[in-house]
Amino acid sequence: MQRMLVPTEYPRVSGLDTGLLSAIVAGEARLTPDQALELFHSMPLPELGRWADARCRQIHGDNFRTYVIDRNINYTNVCTARCTFCAFRRDATDHDAYTLPREIIHQKIAQLSAIGGTQILMQGGMNPDLPLDYYLELLASIKETFPHIHIHAFSPPELIEFVHFFNPPGADLLAKCRWVLHKLQAAGLDSLPGGGGEIFANPVRRKIGLGKCDAESWLTVMFAAHSLGMFTSATMMFGHIEGYADRIHHMMLVREWQDRALREGAVTESRSDEVTKWEDTSPSASSHSVTSSLRHSVTSPPTFGHYKAFISWPFQRENTPLGRVKDWGSDPAELSQEFPGDRIARAYEWGRNAELDYKTITPDFGRKVRMSGSSDYLRTQAISRLMLDNIFSIGSSWVTMGPHIGQVGLSYGGNDMGSVMMEENVVSSAGTTYCLDEAVLCRLIRDAGFVPAQRDNVYDLLKIKDGADSPDLAVKDWSTHRARKLHKQAGKAPTARASLTITAGRA
Ligand code: SF4
Repeated sequence: MQRMLVPTEYPRVSGLDTGLLSAIVAGEARLTPDQALELFHSMPLPELGRWADARCRQIHGDNFRTYVIDRNINYTNVCTARCTFCAFRRDATDHDAYTLPREIIHQKIAQLSAIGGTQILMQGGMNPDLPLDYYLELLASIKETFPHIHIHAFSPPELIEFVHFFNPPGADLLAKCRWVLHKLQAAGLDSLPGGGGEIFANPVRRKIGLGKCDAESWLTVMFAAHSLGMFTSATMMFGHIEGYADRIHHMMLVREWQDRALREGAVTESRSDEVTKWEDTSPSASSHSVTSSLRHSVTSPPTFGHYKAFISWPFQRENTPLGRVKDWGSDPAELSQEFPGDRIARAYEWGRNAELDYKTITPDFGRKVRMSGSSDYLRTQAISRLMLDNIFSIGSSWVTMGPHIGQVGLSYGGNDMGSVMMEENVVSSAGTTYCLDEAVLCRLIRDAGFVPAQRDNVYDLLKIKDGADSPDLAVKDWSTHRARKLHKQAGKAPTARASLTITAGRA
């Protein structure tokens, strides 16, 4: 009999208790949301980083930290939603609206393949003019021409719109998602990126994600993908109108649904004849946790998938409607008050008060943004490593914070530096993102005290970059390998010709 083990919660213990934190590092205890919030508010940042780093080393060891070479292809910017944080979307009638022809997409993938890339991250707006056959034929043509390229595509909000646009059969949302996903998977889709997660709490999501799916739908899409054996990632965009507790609540939901996927996976695998990859519950194995069972390398087609990674990043404000909202603290008098997002998050009670009417609590909610800085970013990433005990990879997102904060993030629970990829259109529409080539990325990892390694989509190591031909060790003149900033002007459409800019990606 196989059973998935979930670490025990000790809700009466302080989140600052070193015994509790040692058990969390060992995978033998689980943080409650209240403990995570206590850590967030009360533990000095360097100390929090040390605990997150210890947990990361427990899972990933002391040697390798990874990156992937992929390319972000945003196949259309036409979108029916109107997220207030988005500078990328266009109406179909806008002069710079676009949908990439298949030949251009193939051209971009050929360029990726030529530099040793292994996957594409393909996402777009929610374009009602594209029929299901557009996606099926596109996927099939990519797989036929580039069978070695992993297709990581279509975030949950896109899938929910597919359900609305294509009206698939099915008794409920899960069944409808499975129908669409099954078609896409048969055509060549390999896995789903975690775009559109933002913040799950209803009050925040309703304010910033106009026309975008709710949290339950987002999580249901991912569960449908897991049920078809796909691996996915989860994301969070913070540092706007949300309370700090909303970030913890977001992680809590990811963790709960991951438990569910792992439980289903364990049941499914115990029913099959193949050698199980999960820990058993015999007394001799009692110290093993969920995360220790995540270390396996997938060698046969999985029967049930799960989240492989969690990546979070701060909101980028430029060219966005939400970015025009004033900063919290622009009126010094308000700094003596509680941030409205924190007040709403407290009343939300970890989702128990789901239909909360925020206007009765504070009409100011959403009228000011609390932007995130470096320490807030590192604090959030470190908490995610400690909270998400059942997620294998925590991404250190240097795209918006810059390469050196990303490098420091490897000491705050991050094990992966994301992607070296060849273009980025969405985040750079809303502010500055940074561009690095593979040599700089490898050097950042090496200078942080680790050996860089190129990985694939399931985080198996492809190439360990430790010989004289390693991209960074082969560089003679670093003046041509500096980090650059990428910043798109509002209203400027991406060119049909592929850019050869090397940029970091996510999800
Ligand atoms: S964030 Fe995505 S779903 Fe929202 S408006 Fe932009 S393209 Fe559309």
